[in-house]
Amino acid sequence: MEWYAAVDLGATNTRALVADTDGTAHGRARRPTPQADGQAITRAVVATLERARDAAGVAPDALAAIGVGSIGPLDTDAGAVVAPPNVPADRIELEAALSERTGAPVTLRNDAIAGVRGERRFTDAPENTVYLTLSTGVGAGVAVDGHVLHGHRGNAAEVGHLSLVPGGRPCGCGGTGHWEAYCSGAGIAAHARSLATDHPTRLDPDELDAAAVFAAADPDTVTASVAETDAVERLSTDLPEAPPDGEGDALATRVVADAVRVNARGVAALAHAYAPELISVGGTVALSNSDLLVDPLPDLLATAGLAVPAPDVRETPLDGDAVIRGALASVLPE
Ligand SMILES: [Zn+2]
Repeated sequence: MEWYAAVDLGATNTRALVADTDGTAHGRARRPTPQADGQAITRAVVATLERARDAAGVAPDALAAIGVGSIGPLDTDAGAVVAPPNVPADRIELEAALSERTGAPVTLRNDAIAGVRGERRFTDAPENTVYLTLSTGVGAGVAVDGHVLHGHRGNAAEVGHLSLVPGGRPCGCGGTGHWEAYCSGAGIAAHARSLATDHPTRLDPDELDAAAVFAAADPDTVTASVAETDAVERLSTDLPEAPPDGEGDALATRVVADAVRVNARGVAALAHAYAPELISVGGTVALSNSDLLVDPLPDLLATAGLAVPAPDVRETPLDGDAVIRGALASVLPE
């Protein structure tokens, strides 16, 4: 029996699994990603992999290959993450550390590129598929004519840093108006926090994260507010009125409505750039709020005046496993 390992290094969680040649998982492990320097994160990745290997009952030197799906940006030549905007580390060494420790070859992929591999290998995703992740960050992985695009140093389709809002909010990368600044977990929280200095809100600025914003938003007002304006061309300038029964928080509702609009712009950009037949959406922010963030996308695309046929849009059937499954797919035998 040959054994294969996969790692999903996210900004929030680090996960590992060990599987057989068919891709059946025999051991898994998970821990929060240390919000610390690169060495601490590298140590956490190695430890998580070793726990998954122990859980599978596999000997330390018995792994045939390791696939890693990681937050970016990457330098795949060096096998490392360089200057990631969503964790405090400057550089995270992955390939050398993991192969030194295990003796196995390591394949490093950006998390969303791993995600599209997972879609192609383990679901019915067609040859022209985009995997879009809305998580701590935003990114995409793209298959065109069945080929997964990797790009220079493994950074193809880092679409979270597409500029979608002229003169818009600052992004964690230093740019402005980027997709990620409105639609990632970190961006949604930061958007709410910045509006809270000038607008009344029931949100507690000290406890503010994307989950709190979604919990406080009024879904009906979000839907009505997005339908009212041209979703792809305009962002709201005014806060939508809170519903009369006072259930929703106007600021949270505005932030979610902006996320829906910017998402529609981004997905339209993906459709024009890559002509996908399917856009499959994953990542914790999307999966926890798919009624607001994923379900409206087909209708929004239908009214967006695309110059290309509109793709199908769905929630990934791999749930939270798209990246780790794709990391595995990048090392399993065909
Ligand atoms: Zn950016």
